[in-house]
Amino acid sequence: MSGFVQGTRGLSLNTATIGWQIPLERTVALCEEFGFGGIAPWRHELHDQGIAEVASRLKQSSLQVTGLCRGGAFTAFGEDGLQRAVDENKRAVDEAAEIGAKCLVLVVGGLLDGSNDITRARDCVRRALEAVLEYACDVGVPLAIEPLHPVYAAERSCISTLREALDLCDHLGEGVGVAIDVYHVWWDPGLFAQIQRAGDRILAFHVCDWLIPTRDPLKDRGMMGDGVIDLPSIRKMVETSGYDGMCEVEIFSENDWWQREPAEVLRSCIETYGRHVMALEEVTYP
Ligand code: ZN
Repeated sequence: MSGFVQGTRGLSLNTATIGWQIPLERTVALCEEFGFGGIAPWRHELHDQGIAEVASRLKQSSLQVTGLCRGGAFTAFGEDGLQRAVDENKRAVDEAAEIGAKCLVLVVGGLLDGSNDITRARDCVRRALEAVLEYACDVGVPLAIEPLHPVYAAERSCISTLREALDLCDHLGEGVGVAIDVYHVWWDPGLFAQIQRAGDRILAFHVCDWLIPTRDPLKDRGMMGDGVIDLPSIRKMVETSGYDGMCEVEIFSENDWWQREPAEVLRSCIETYGRHVMALEEVTYP
């Protein structure tokens, strides 16, 4: 018996998947129409529409907010600017709380400007996280560290593997966990052991696919089933570890999915989630 919510209610839409083509208000309505169970918006959408308005719309909706994208970027202002990054993340925590998000997703940041010392970057990230965590615990928003594929280590995330992210969680204690995105971790020989180790530290599960060839590691992700990631196996491991949240579709695809009508994208998400993540032979629509 699956630990995931069955049917389309087990599916959450990360709004990046439709390339933020339409205002958040309309994306919310579309997700409801298609029977999605959740949504994960981005901060710039909250700022565009006004956070109070977004919060009230989401509260009235049938959707769970599976995460707010995103906090982190702890190294963005240099070592001297750590406090500035911490303050910005506290604002993100407040926003996540206001819209009732299950977690704040963190992309921790890459190398410090002008430096090639990745150990120093990781140390900055740890110190910044220590500084944000207490605040996040007080406000009641879990922090979800998302390890990113090593191709992003220099510019976006000096945390590349689930193992590193979980080591950091162990160091930090309560109130922090991980967002597992198949795109970033599918290749890792230690993946299954680390997913088992993660247990209730798993705060979010992101799906898409890895295309061959990949023309751009940032904005050329595939729809589930179009690439080479063994999605059912990873999904089963995540289930077995006890995660019973939603499966969030997150696809950056500048030249393909972002060029399509949002309704078409949502329809494909439902179909390919059923077939290629849940491994169902037949997919029923709401
Ligand atoms: Zn992700």
